[in-house]
Amino acid sequence: PQPDLDLAALVRTIPDFPKPGIQFRDITTLIGHAAGFAESVRRLSARAETYRPDFIVAVEARGFLFGAAMASAMGLGVVPVRKAGKLPGVTIGVDYELEYGVDRLELHEGAVEAGHRVVLVDDLLATGGTILATAELMRAAGAEVAAALFVIDLPDLGGARRLNEAGLPCETLIAFD
Ligand code: 5GP
Repeated sequence: PQPDLDLAALVRTIPDFPKPGIQFRDITTLIGHAAGFAESVRRLSARAETYRPDFIVAVEARGFLFGAAMASAMGLGVVPVRKAGKLPGVTIGVDYELEYGVDRLELHEGAVEAGHRVVLVDDLLATGGTILATAELMRAAGAEVAAALFVIDLPDLGGARRLNEAGLPCETLIAFD
């Protein structure tokens, strides 16, 4: 463990991606750094343990990278939540609003059992729309959503407040203005 490691310094910022005016926080430099990736997963797993989950639920696509590593470190299985049309089996889905238009997230039927406690994982919390849709999907499947964990928070976009208002505990490792 390297509790002093500065994870924020390992995240690269790419201006004007995917469109002009957006400062994209790029985690590929963090996960490409051996100690940075290990420490990110260790810190996330330590927080996830406090919720005593039965499964880790990882959100496509960057959530898979952290969620899968956490689940393995914790001795748990990982359940993927994917964009529409990607999962091969029978799915349940939820539509959610984007800035422009709607998108759909899906889960394999039977991937979580009623009463299971899950922790949701994604790389970054912006408006909270993606993770709130994921939480809705989990509840539709009968699971209990214990918390949502992220590497990065963008507090200016209000996601943490929205999750708080929705009664969903959330934890993040680093924040960018
Ligand atoms: P939200 O639904 O909270 O508004 O947006 C969060 C989702 O968008 C996450 O799935 C996250 O991967 C993606 N996202 C939005 N902006 C960024 C960014 O600057 N960097 C990264 N890595 N992901 C982003």
